[in-house]
Amino acid sequence: MADDELQTCVRCYHVADKKDKYCIQCGAPLKNKCTKKKTVLHAGCSKVNEPNAKYCADCGTETLFNEWGLL
Ligand SMILES: [Zn+2]
Ligand SMILES: [Zn+2]
Repeated sequence: MADDELQTCVRCYHVADKKDKYCIQCGAPLKNKCTKKKTVLHAGCSKVNEPNAKYCADCGTETLFNEWGLL
């Protein structure tokens, strides 16, 4: 399997398949998605940010890793 098909959990370092959304070992999210929710006024933001991003590069909202206290 190529390296780009793998990703590492930021909490427990479990090596997971790239298509997984959550770590099967500790339940932490594997994708650092923007947490901006869809509302009546906004379409929301589902940008996947760099693993070290605390805030979304597109809209400045807290990222999922930041919300979970993983950074
Ligand atoms: Zn994990
Ligand atoms: Zn965003």
